[in-house]
Amino acid sequence: MSNIQQTLSIIKPDAVERNLSEEIKKVFKNNNFNILKEKKVKISKSEAEKFYQIHQTKPFYNDLCEYLSSGPIIAMILEKNDAILENRKLMGATDPLKADIGTIRKKYGISIDKNSVHGSDSEENAKKEIDFFFKD
Ligand code: UDP
Ligand code: MG
Repeated sequence: MSNIQQTLSIIKPDAVERNLSEEIKKVFKNNNFNILKEKKVKISKSEAEKFYQIHQTKPFYNDLCEYLSSGPIIAMILEKNDAILENRKLMGATDPLKADIGTIRKKYGISIDKNSVHGSDSEENAKKEIDFFFKD
């Protein structure tokens, strides 16, 4: 049964800075994701705090928000059958050291915080996160 979904992907500052954006977009396209929309933006710390609100009680929250707002990022709406889960699989584990071979984080991630990509983890969060970047 088909279950076309949209999910939010972000190419994080560490990857944009290393000029990996085109290569990472190619990985998505090669895995049959359609990139419906994309934009390069630099968000403020308070916008990052809003985006990562879900993590506000975590010890890494402040550093995470500093980091996401530290340089340009590329936000994308990805579409595919089961896009949310498929993107999470393609990204790999949060810690690149623990990510499976062939995943984006294994290949490009530097560390658990500089792990090159973000991907929505549920339908509810995908909707919220897509709206965050693309609701005009
Ligand atoms: N993060 C971190 N330290 C940790 C766990 C997470 O710096 O111990 C960062 C990391 O950049 C991660 C983001 O916080 O991508 C969000 O964490 P989450 O657990 O949601 O991981 P993800 O969904 O990105 O795999
Ligand atoms: Mg997450």
